Amino acid sequence: MSTAITPAAIRAARASLPSDVAPSPLLRARWLDAAAGGAAVWLKDETWGPTGAFKIRGATHAVATLPAQARERGVTTASTGNHGRALAHAAASQGVRAVICLSSLVPQNKVDAVRVAGGEVRIVGDTQDEAGEEVARLVREEGLTEIPPFDHPAVIAGQGTIGLELTEVLGTVGTVLVGLSGGGLAGGLALALKSECPQARVIGLSPDHGGAAMHASLQAGHLVEVPEPPSLADSLGGGLGADNRYTFSLCRDWIDDVVLLCEAEIAAGMRALHAEQGLVAEGGGAVGPAALLAERIAHPPGPVVCIISGAGIDPTLFRAVLAGADALAKGEEP
Ligand SMILES: *Cc1c(COP(=O)(O)O)cnc(C)c1O
Repeated sequence: MSTAITPAAIRAARASLPSDVAPSPLLRARWLDAAAGGAAVWLKDETWGPTGAFKIRGATHAVATLPAQARERGVTTASTGNHGRALAHAAASQGVRAVICLSSLVPQNKVDAVRVAGGEVRIVGDTQDEAGEEVARLVREEGLTEIPPFDHPAVIAGQGTIGLELTEVLGTVGTVLVGLSGGGLAGGLALALKSECPQARVIGLSPDHGGAAMHASLQAGHLVEVPEPPSLADSLGGGLGADNRYTFSLCRDWIDDVVLLCEAEIAAGMRALHAEQGLVAEGGGAVGPAALLAERIAHPPGPVVCIISGAGIDPTLFRAVLAGADALAKGEEP
């Protein structure tokens, strides 16, 4: 398998994704037009798929492109939730074993969801790093293949298919607002979209809590380590990996800008998405509307597309946000 990340590789992924994974709906959201300076706003509804988040795309493509011997042995990952759940589902649907290693800080609802999706769960330690050590052991001692959440060519190609679906429906795209963490989604999407629509702008959105690793790294011009403070947008936390091979350069080359949002802005985005469009999305999947409503994106060229994702938010936390909570209570984990 080629490891080059090219528009052709993303088109191949687009052609092979099953119909329960893609394409996702593209919804018109007139209620956001004013906040976008009058441009037409659309929501790419990635809460629609089998695990409620776009990560099912990358995971499905990564499992589908494994060599036969690796499929027999199975796959593993250390994931904060959405990727682990997606990999469990993708592997189970293709008859492949998946062992998902999670830290004890991952919310219980996400742990349960991994099991329901068909994955074996292993809870290891209190940090991503400790969960990652168990993954390394499974690879070394049991021959499993690690499928990481973002820094992997087939994962990036899978997430990038969203960019192709936008031009399939809209023809041209002016601006895409997309949650940014490891950068597999934003980087793959930007590369794919700009191969068809070079003038499109892709703006990554992250929390402003000091834990936005890609933003800090892009500013510094090299990989930077950041702390992992809690956030309503917990799926946008976590580092890039000291041995990042693909997503840092992809985001540096293809993303136009990164905007950082505070917790209250993210919470307002979640409430508005639910009130106006009936969508349940976690903080990391509501940042597009959040950025528009907070008037943080001045006069974006239209059409404007917000990528919405993360239906698997903890129901208690979601109710608290709907009731007006603007941030996590002290000491609370999302
Ligand atoms: C994983 C995830 C992101 C960030 O994707 P990256 O490829 O790591 O940048 C954003 N939103 C949701 C809901 C996610 O699960």
